[in-house]
Amino acid sequence: MSRLRDDRRMPASAALRALVAETGAFLLAATCAGCDLPGTLLCDACRGELVAAPVALRTPAGLSVTAALPFDGVAARCLRRLKGEGDTLLARPLGAALASVLLPALGDRVHPVPIPTSRSAFRRRGYRVPDLLVSRAGAEPWRLLRHHGRHTDQRGLGVRERVENARGSMRVRARGRGARVLLVDDVVTTGATFDEAARALSANGFEVVGAVALAATARHSEPRDDTSTTRRK
Ligand SMILES: [Zn+2]
Repeated sequence: MSRLRDDRRMPASAALRALVAETGAFLLAATCAGCDLPGTLLCDACRGELVAAPVALRTPAGLSVTAALPFDGVAARCLRRLKGEGDTLLARPLGAALASVLLPALGDRVHPVPIPTSRSAFRRRGYRVPDLLVSRAGAEPWRLLRHHGRHTDQRGLGVRERVENARGSMRVRARGRGARVLLVDDVVTTGATFDEAARALSANGFEVVGAVALAATARHSEPRDDTSTTRRK
């Protein structure tokens, strides 16, 4: 306590106190992303809901994907806040959930490659969600992919449309010479985006060992009416 009182004379600590007061006011204005409890960005109960419960799936082309959580409940609400409302502090608990599927999959000389963010989404948010999650999970993102062309939003599209829409949507910045990479995205639906990323990377000499996502939508487990995906080898 006496140290605090001494510090009070220093301008630097006055600035720090003002910052602490502002942060406190900010937290008082905040509500839990999971349950709207006031005074916190994420309450303990909701934090407990972000313990990974891995979901395994396959993309239309057969790439294996592990997602840390199903895309529902607290995880879905936190992701919407992170993506839609700029609550970047939520990247830390979400990154911790991602870490439990990402870090074991990285192993020996496998590098995480985030799915690229469209230029308009980056301009809107000021950050790239997959890259941020990889960093918060404790890994270093390899930004090998960049968004290209007139690729539109995948939302609302069926499996076949997603495959068509994703085709040619990414460019690779470097030659792989056999380097091993793991794809990472925030949400996986059908996996068509992962397939296109894997196709582009493989064509440039990278070996894609698999893919991980923070959350998987329920869509992949729906009965498939699109026979073209089952006919493919
Ligand atoms: Zn809560």
